[in-house]
Amino acid sequence: MSDAPIYKRVLLKASGEALMGDQGFGIDVSVVDRIAADIAEAKALGVEVGVVIGGGNIFRGVAVASKGGDRVTGDHMGMLATVINSLALRTSLSKISVDAVVLSAIAMPEICESFSQRQATAYMDQGKVVIFAGGTGNPFFTTDSAAALRAAEIGADALFKGTQVDGIYSADPKIHPDAMRYERLTHKQVLDQGLAVMDTTAVALARENNIPIIVYSIHEDGEFAKILLGKGRCTTVSG
Ligand code: UDP
Repeated sequence: MSDAPIYKRVLLKASGEALMGDQGFGIDVSVVDRIAADIAEAKALGVEVGVVIGGGNIFRGVAVASKGGDRVTGDHMGMLATVINSLALRTSLSKISVDAVVLSAIAMPEICESFSQRQATAYMDQGKVVIFAGGTGNPFFTTDSAAALRAAEIGADALFKGTQVDGIYSADPKIHPDAMRYERLTHKQVLDQGLAVMDTTAVALARENNIPIIVYSIHEDGEFAKILLGKGRCTTVSG
């Protein structure tokens, strides 16, 4: 096993729920600090890191729609939630002296810079962690799709999906303890078998752009860096 990372530039997708720790809602700063430490480890290996964070710990658009409200407004609220989470991550990274910038898909110049592919790649070339806020900027999409989109735009070598468990299983292992864990899958297998890992738009976009998806547990300290060195526990979706 070498000490050189197997990927040079990656996009990390963390769900909003990952940030709330044991709380039922919102942000547990100690959890965000931990994820920031994982990103710092990856940076120390020389890996360029972009991040997309969800907003489910604060708000999801369907919550408005399911109560008879306007879905588009609900999705706007969800996208704003991702901005809050992105600012929390930038704060945690800056506490440990990791240079990070938030680029939002929705313009809010008093708070953060707006996303452009050119600016994002320029910052990544400079070694900054780029946090992509606001999802895709469009309603009816998810931050999984935003992650696949940004991964393609920045030319990422891999899309890391940090989840609650250590890979893709044939069924939810928390409900079905005998579920089978996959080591490797193709994008097509994930789509054909409807495996619950990322939404189909995200998987299809990654497939079209030949971007491998690495599914791993975001709750394991140091696992991100281990996988970057080819030693961690994960499911790899490629080919
Ligand atoms: N959202 C959206 N467009 C996007 C990304 C997100 O409208 O491109 C909204 C949508 O309402 C979604 C919410 O933001 O429910 C939070 O994102 P997501 O559900 O993907 O967060 P996660 O489940 O990863 O925490």
